[in-house]
Amino acid sequence: MMTGRRAERDCGEKMTRGLVFDIKRYSIHDGPGIRTTFFLKGCPLSCWWCHNPEGISPQPVLLRHPNRCIGCGRCIAVCPSGAWSRKADGRLSHDKEKCTLCGICADTCPPSAIEIAGREMTLGDVVQEAQKDIPFYDESGGGVTFSGGEPLLQSRFLFACLLKLQDEEIHTAIDTSGYCEEKNILEAAEIADLFLFDIKHIDPKKHEYYTGVSNRIILSNLGKLDETLVRRGRGRINIRMPLIPGINDDTENLEAVAELSASLKTLSGVNILPYHSTGEGKYRNLVMEYKMGNYLPPREDKIAEALDIFRRQGIEAVKGG
Ligand code: SF4
Ligand code: SF4
Repeated sequence: MMTGRRAERDCGEKMTRGLVFDIKRYSIHDGPGIRTTFFLKGCPLSCWWCHNPEGISPQPVLLRHPNRCIGCGRCIAVCPSGAWSRKADGRLSHDKEKCTLCGICADTCPPSAIEIAGREMTLGDVVQEAQKDIPFYDESGGGVTFSGGEPLLQSRFLFACLLKLQDEEIHTAIDTSGYCEEKNILEAAEIADLFLFDIKHIDPKKHEYYTGVSNRIILSNLGKLDETLVRRGRGRINIRMPLIPGINDDTENLEAVAELSASLKTLSGVNILPYHSTGEGKYRNLVMEYKMGNYLPPREDKIAEALDIFRRQGIEAVKGG
């Protein structure tokens, strides 16, 4: 028979819900080993190069994939709000004002040309999904990563997931911009095993220009996170830096980020993430402006130079990851 306390906890788990816009299984780029990554909705930054723009809004969004559409018209027929129509040239039109994001069209579209990014999941759902991959975690030293968006925006849901996964002895990582309330990152520091901490630019003005926010809170949170992990005697930080020619790849910036990384007592390494434009199509599908049209991925010699700057500080720096 279930004890009162256990019943209370199970009931609490059912009530704890978050908004997740994607789940990536068998990921080898979101922390050590093979991982299951949950992408949580909402981000206070709007980085020009974001490759998950569907995760920025804290609300669900309807994402279209016109290249998959077979023109069957089922979306027009099933929408209870009359949000879909066909234009004179035969193309589909979607009226955002009428759409209630009920998801019926996405569920019935045969080739999945419509997607609702942002579905509610309970704590139990997350744990159930993670448990399916335990054999892979055990084999590879992997675990679960929470990414986004900014996962610390949904802090209550995130902490509940971390605690439950900790009970299950599953390794946990948080992929964060570091832009959040200090108390949230410090609470996470008491539970999570690894922080994948993004540093995009050391200059506060340039940081604000390209991401929409200053890096003041981010750098302060990074220092406090490091101190907390030292005190806890457990948990590590991995710095992740997107490398974007013409934005943050100058020697001065790279040296400053390398120096900052080297000052962290709980640093496990640095990942240099070369910019790529694979997210561009999503901007079109979301009818959002893509500001990176004129930017190219970094050349291999520039990536090698960047890695060198970090390695000269004695840091284990790798490309990608
Ligand atoms: S239901 Fe899907 S495939 Fe059919 S017309 Fe609508 S978007 Fe296109
Ligand atoms: S999500 Fe619902 S309301 Fe919006 S277009 Fe699809 S069926 Fe219509």
